[in-house]
Amino acid sequence: MDSALANYSIGKDGFYNHVALTSDFPMGLEVAKAFGPYIHLTDGRKILDLISGIAVSSLGHGHPKVIQAIKDQVDKHLHVMVYGEFIQQPQSMFAKLLCENLPEGLDRIYLVNSGTEANEGALKLAKKYTGRQKLVGFKNSYHGDTHGALSVTGRDVYRDPFLPLLPDVAFGEFNNIDSLAIIDERTAAVILEPIQGEGGIIPADKNWLKAIRKRCTEVGAILIFDEIQSGFFRTGPFFAFMEYGVQPDILCIAKAMGGGMPIGGFVASHELFESFKKDPALCHVTTFGGHPVSCAAALANLQVLLEEEVGQKALAIEKMVKSTLIHPSVVEVRGKGAMLGMELISKDLTEKVVTTCLKEYDIMLGWTLHSNTLVRIAPPLLIEQTVLQEALMSILKVINEFSVPEL
Ligand code: PMP
Repeated sequence: MDSALANYSIGKDGFYNHVALTSDFPMGLEVAKAFGPYIHLTDGRKILDLISGIAVSSLGHGHPKVIQAIKDQVDKHLHVMVYGEFIQQPQSMFAKLLCENLPEGLDRIYLVNSGTEANEGALKLAKKYTGRQKLVGFKNSYHGDTHGALSVTGRDVYRDPFLPLLPDVAFGEFNNIDSLAIIDERTAAVILEPIQGEGGIIPADKNWLKAIRKRCTEVGAILIFDEIQSGFFRTGPFFAFMEYGVQPDILCIAKAMGGGMPIGGFVASHELFESFKKDPALCHVTTFGGHPVSCAAALANLQVLLEEEVGQKALAIEKMVKSTLIHPSVVEVRGKGAMLGMELISKDLTEKVVTTCLKEYDIMLGWTLHSNTLVRIAPPLLIEQTVLQEALMSILKVINEFSVPEL
């Protein structure tokens, strides 16, 4: 290794003294390299990543086809022009392949750099298209940390320090039919996650989702699905909405989209996107959105995801996790495919399980933002069954070790 990164003490100093941190208890693992389901640390440890960098590395880390596509693109060109002016092959080819695999009505993608930006763009598109202002979100949701996305995020503890946020936002109860009443003729957009991620891995009820769709159509509100976490086969189908049989007007995507590179997007119809072209033209622009290297990675990533039939693998992961993690201290394992959460009986046990699995078994698990009794389990979809099975047995052992004796 010939770069400054070879000096790992510089890495620690920079991280703790110059990288702005958002908590006093970062994991602080120092990464040397990452391949497949493993993250190799500078101290020689090899960590099994059972959260995929929070639902990003669905093909595992550094998939060879993704890496090759990045290298090939780097040799051709990096940024050449702001978004939407030049024809850049990786962008066009990715957009085509994605839309060909989505149902009619989701035929255009606006490319951005992250999940929260995808939601920002989607909210603006809905306002521009409908000419309305009111937005509807749901309690316990998470849509990102920029002002617009935070405005529709349903958790006060994260919102309060940043008030005032966008005006005219109403929140409904997730999976509660009474929430339909707040969707009215003034509503520009309703935004929701078909499976709430940070809220604690909570799938929407099919009938509720259908009722929301019906209500939005009745009153002319745009329905936005935030599938930033649940997309790209993580829950089994290409996108979770496909299994529900409920189609959004705008689909927001990111995370697993770039195979480890930063990229996001919001997908809608040609008709909706026409409203971004006028009054005024160029009303939503981005310099780096759809960066050619990220798009080249996204294209290779999507090709492999489609070839490898990873949806089936996600369902096999669900089956194995749910049938293995059975213990009196496990309240339930919920979620779909490889977007799973294990609810434990206490916060204390949850903390012990996550920290001990990492410290003693080199297994990386995690929390979700809004829940402290839920252990997030979201392995790379290509993880070998034997590797997963062995890890699950270790997790069970740790749960047992810290469970109260009478159990
Ligand atoms: N929406 C959902 C459902 C998410 O899970 C996340 C990230 N956890 C975001 C939006 C924000 O994405 P990003 O961090 O890329 O901005």
